[in-house]
Amino acid sequence: MNFIVVGVIAPVAYFLLRLATKKIVMMILKQFNKPKDNALISCENCGTYFEKQYGKRINGKFICDKADCVKNAKS
Ligand SMILES: [Zn+2]
Repeated sequence: MNFIVVGVIAPVAYFLLRLATKKIVMMILKQFNKPKDNALISCENCGTYFEKQYGKRINGKFICDKADCVKNAKS
């Protein structure tokens, strides 16, 4: 009886494990691909390099978070 249960559960567990592994690998690959979005870009006002997520886009220009740069970009 136990052999039958193991014989049914084992392949199902193996299948689910493979499915889960695939999903985890896909998630890890997505995480590794993320930094490309946060590539360094330079402020169009002062030329300082910063990560995209820390900058602002004002009037179509990428601007760092310095008050002077924000002010210049808006005017
Ligand atoms: Zn700047």
